[in-house]
Amino acid sequence: MTSSFSNLMLAEPLARAVAEMGYETMTPIQEQAIPVVLAGQDVMGAAQTGTGKTAAFSLPLLQRMLKHENASTSPARHPVRALVLLPTRELADQVAQQVKLYAKYTNLRSTVVFGGIDMKPQTLELKKGVEVLVATPGRLLDHIEAKNAVLNQVEYVVLDEADRMLDIGFLPDLQRILSYLPKQRTTLLFSATFSPEIKRLAGSYLQNPVTIEVARPNETASTVEQHFYSVSDDDKRRALKQIVKQRGITQAFVFVNSKLGCARLARSLERDGLRTTALHGDKSQDERLKALASFKAGEVDLLVCTDVAARGLDIKDVPAVFNFDVPFNAEDYVHRIGRTGRAGASGLAVSFASGGNDARLVADIEKLIKKKIELEPVEFEEDNPRGRINDGRRHWREEGEAGDARDVLDQPRERRDAEARRGGGRPHRAPSAPRDPFFDKPYEPGVPDATPAWEAAAKAATPTRGISSNIKSKRKVAALFKSAEPS
Ligand code: AMP
Repeated sequence: MTSSFSNLMLAEPLARAVAEMGYETMTPIQEQAIPVVLAGQDVMGAAQTGTGKTAAFSLPLLQRMLKHENASTSPARHPVRALVLLPTRELADQVAQQVKLYAKYTNLRSTVVFGGIDMKPQTLELKKGVEVLVATPGRLLDHIEAKNAVLNQVEYVVLDEADRMLDIGFLPDLQRILSYLPKQRTTLLFSATFSPEIKRLAGSYLQNPVTIEVARPNETASTVEQHFYSVSDDDKRRALKQIVKQRGITQAFVFVNSKLGCARLARSLERDGLRTTALHGDKSQDERLKALASFKAGEVDLLVCTDVAARGLDIKDVPAVFNFDVPFNAEDYVHRIGRTGRAGASGLAVSFASGGNDARLVADIEKLIKKKIELEPVEFEEDNPRGRINDGRRHWREEGEAGDARDVLDQPRERRDAEARRGGGRPHRAPSAPRDPFFDKPYEPGVPDATPAWEAAAKAATPTRGISSNIKSKRKVAALFKSAEPS
């Protein structure tokens, strides 16, 4: 059941902004979290980006801060009262934009600080005074050290995408930032997974949190048709182009494990005549935002990206996701394919497994999503079938690995410094945390009447021409509610 925003009794300026955004009914995370935050309790929320999480924390925080609202020009009258921390620049930018929209009819000010761009304009904004500060941890610390950001009046802290913040090594930065904040505050922690590490973090920094869960994190949407193809590294590009053509795919994310591989693939697809752009940590912030904007505007068809760069981006209704490389971490598989089939729309997720480590990585994914993965052969159109058809069985080459795991520039400073001290250019991934038995429950599809895409996949073994019946035209956010129903 979903309820209307009008039941919330939001203050008029907030209600007006919400109405202007076109929101009528609350998403499940909003329905559950908003009253709890309004009541001043800490929250530990299991919810992914795309569930309406930003409004779920922003609206009640803004409502609670309205008592401090004032039109004074004095910076002292606008101290930072709410701090929102996110792991990546794009996410920080995205959340900050949303906060600005929700607060537009109030006198509450907000701004965002993240790395990769000049500190000066951010400093000017901070010096003018802002009530809501959205930030990535590394750059925030730079501003704290430069005394541009004073956090001793913070009343609310949001740790968003907390699992990813720990995953890419932000824990020391987080701990330092939290040590600057008043002990008396409301803390909201959102995470796609509740690993023991996350629970430890919550245990240290949250007080009697209310646990809210709207979708199990290891669940892959039942609306996503998933295929794994066994294909050599040399043939991956050809396979991708063929599937795009055969399926009539209009737009897709193409995930690659390394920055170098990302740039290289984007360039060669571009040469092949596909409208392509690349998103990875070596791009300047400006380039990254431009790449994203052109993809959102439909000016490019393929967004070739690394995990760090693409985490949580709010791009709806992408018809397909390609895992050009099998992700090093099974949880990234769930995040990656969560880019399609969003908001209840159907989507296609295609993964290419070649040699090296891929057998183990695919087995990890199988374990995480609790579904049997069958590797399918790729039959190339223009080839002599005998020469090209894969035998369809697991067939792993031993040589050759996919490349670097991480975007080094997106890592926290401590990690980068440590890497440099060790003399290793190649970042290492922290070992995955042990599984939480709560999330190891067997998979149950969220939409009971939908045919599990996984089973449908077997039937769809022979590729068809034109747009797949599974790829439907854009659907509006109303479907958020359906996809996020607890199962
Ligand atoms: P988020 O999970 O916060 O990134 O939100 C995902 C998208 O859903 C954003 O584009 C929001 O503008 C949109 N959204 C959030 N809440 C609602 C709502 N109640 N109704 C319709 N759209 C919403």
